Amino acid sequence: MKKFGALEAGGTKMVMSCLDENGNMLDRVSIPTKTPEETMPEMIRYFRDQNVSSLGIGSFGPLDLNTSSETYGYITQTPKLAWRQYPLLPAFLSALKIPVAIDTDVNAAALAEYALGAARDTESCLYVTVGTGVGGGVIIGGKPVHGLVHPEVGHQLLHPSTNDPSPEGFCPYHRHCLEGLASGPAMEKRWGMSAKELPHTHPGWILEAEYLAQMCMNALMTFSPEKIILGGGVMQQDFLFPLIRKRTVELLHGYLASPSVEKNLEDLIVPPGLGVNSGVMGAYLLSRQATHETR
Ligand code: ADP
Ligand code: ZN
Repeated sequence: MKKFGALEAGGTKMVMSCLDENGNMLDRVSIPTKTPEETMPEMIRYFRDQNVSSLGIGSFGPLDLNTSSETYGYITQTPKLAWRQYPLLPAFLSALKIPVAIDTDVNAAALAEYALGAARDTESCLYVTVGTGVGGGVIIGGKPVHGLVHPEVGHQLLHPSTNDPSPEGFCPYHRHCLEGLASGPAMEKRWGMSAKELPHTHPGWILEAEYLAQMCMNALMTFSPEKIILGGGVMQQDFLFPLIRKRTVELLHGYLASPSVEKNLEDLIVPPGLGVNSGVMGAYLLSRQATHETR
């Protein structure tokens, strides 16, 4: 039986899984992300012991995804200093000597939602996670978008609301970018209370919906995804979905001619079809693709 390795490489934990040819999970282990010197040998040992025939990696970034670059598959400018300029893909390739494919964690999740989840009847989607950070993966024509680097959906600039007591947001790089305004930690800093505990009647949720609606508006106006899939910890508050849809319709102001708008975006702005498994299934799909890919 063929076994596929899947790695969800996150800033706080590394989740390693093995799946069979039908995508059934055979094994799953999570370890904390320490330094590469500590964490890499453990991961290499795991995938070696499991005897996987290929590996797919959905990683935190930014990543170098330019296949003709000398640093292809490196983690680049991450604020996690120990992993800055770390050759993640080359390290696995040389240690395991099996096909390995890599993409951003959010492109992997978007790929899984496109192939198996909420966007499976479409050719394009945006997957956004709203959690410790805000990140987004983009599929167009059935393929993850890389482009110049890769999309950094979380760092798009938004229009701060006049009702926002912290209109500059909390991103160390940018004033009023999406992540700085709408991540879980941004909500906590602004309101002095975790997003988990913020009551549903708190005005912070209207503000959160405002910012996520601005993001949806920007996406619809720039690359026209057929589905916008919103996941991550903060989106566990599913009462946010109708608030975001309503505000997006208001922002569109009748401009977009699509039956989706008449349906109040109910089929367009949606939760992940794969629940919390978009990331692992994305890494699994990359693992499968790795066996067919030469680059
Ligand atoms: P990560 O982004 O680190 O992978 P999560 O997607 O769970 O993990 O995001 C964590 C952030 O999401 C925290 O800031 C936390 O406050 C927030 N969060 C987690 N669960 C919930 C919840 N049920 N409701 C609201 N916010 C949540
Ligand atoms: Zn930013």
